[in-house]
Amino acid sequence: MDTRSPVSSRPAHGLSYVAPTATSPWGTYLAQIERVLPYLGPLARWAETLRRPKRSLIVDVPIEMDDGTVRHFEGYRVQHNLSRGPGKGGLRYHPDVTLEEVMALAAWMTIKNAAVNLPFGGAKGGIRVDPKKLSLKELEKLTRRYTSEIGIVIGPQQDIPAPDMNTNAQIMAWMMDTYSANAGATITGVVTGKPVHLGGSLGRVKATGRGVFVTGREAARRLGMDLDGARVAVQGFGNVGSAAAELFVGAGAKIVAVQDHTGTIANPAGLEMGPLIASARLHGGVGEFRGGGRIDDESFWDIDCDILVPAALEGQITAARAQRLKSRLVLEGANGPTLPDADDVLADRGILVVPDVICNAGGVTVSYFEWVQDFSSFFWTEDEINLRMDKIIVDALKRIWDTADQHRISLRTATFAVACERILTARQERGLYP
Ligand code: NAD
Repeated sequence: MDTRSPVSSRPAHGLSYVAPTATSPWGTYLAQIERVLPYLGPLARWAETLRRPKRSLIVDVPIEMDDGTVRHFEGYRVQHNLSRGPGKGGLRYHPDVTLEEVMALAAWMTIKNAAVNLPFGGAKGGIRVDPKKLSLKELEKLTRRYTSEIGIVIGPQQDIPAPDMNTNAQIMAWMMDTYSANAGATITGVVTGKPVHLGGSLGRVKATGRGVFVTGREAARRLGMDLDGARVAVQGFGNVGSAAAELFVGAGAKIVAVQDHTGTIANPAGLEMGPLIASARLHGGVGEFRGGGRIDDESFWDIDCDILVPAALEGQITAARAQRLKSRLVLEGANGPTLPDADDVLADRGILVVPDVICNAGGVTVSYFEWVQDFSSFFWTEDEINLRMDKIIVDALKRIWDTADQHRISLRTATFAVACERILTARQERGLYP
């Protein structure tokens, strides 16, 4: 069974530059690592490597604003582990981004890439900024200056950024152009999630949401839950949440509640997807949608539903909220949405959690396809991409489920067990230098 050690009972080692707590993202990740140790056998000797990012870069990003003033923003690129290949992971623009958060997001990328057996290590980037307060010109300057500053650590064979919260294909195009201008050649493979006509891949925009749907479809089948008529609640209606919601509706499910930073809308009869997407686009969020009733944000966690999809931020499912959930299945579209003690509550209540490190791996899987296509300059059809991604995710989930059944552990600990065995075997085989 899972060992339920809180982060505070870890051995007295650690990093001098962060002070994780039991509810902070890096603290959550460290607690998840403690839980997998009993299943690593002799490889546990190498586990300390998982508790330390290989490389953390903090950069100052100064830009001239439209009004002529100069503002400085703090940016990060963390390469958590590169034992299995180049770093891979998204770039987040958010006013609350910190080094500690980016470290955790990079570490979850290490686990995720290994869980689906992609030839990548884990990395992540971020800028502490509210992009909604910048003009398009300022956003471009910020992106280009940041790309130049982190240029010393990224590259198609070193570390390949991609979109995450508040970043998109346009931002990837600016990154690719800046890196290429500095290198003196067009190097499309330095980022993924680019526009399709600039070396991007078909299917990438919706890939993460599609992966959430694929893992949800498999989990529902194992639970004996029919997706036709299933009631789904979605937190976060951005790239991941909206694409997942559309696919669930396509399979006959109803979206009974949706929440984003502008509010929470519920309708037990199901929200109509087309008008909801159009309204969210027009108003910058779902809060103004009139096809359902507005409820207070905290009531989202009491919604009667079969499936809950957190697809916004970390740390959303606390132990207290976990006690209130009515769903049978939680699909973690977001990274790190469930705190470790909430995981225990959900397990005790018999609510199945498909963890982020496999649930949202569809995005990085299609990013891998994009990287491969850029190297060969040969592009696949959308059907090929969706079929290959579906198979990779289904196969990875089956391996994880078998591991969970074998040790009688949660899907999260099983995903970490499968991934950590691959990462630490690579570490051991490469050896230490000198
Ligand atoms: P996005 O910027 O497209 O959308 C984020 C959504 O979260 C928006 O709807 C926003 O309104 C909502 N949100 C923000 N703060 C909120 C709050 N306090 N309460 C409720 N909702 C809030 O971002 P995204 O790319 O969809 O990413 C969402 C999550 O999925 C993140 O955790 C991200 O790390 C993860 N993820 C994204 C990808 C990807 O390919 N984009 C891949 C894997 C994981």
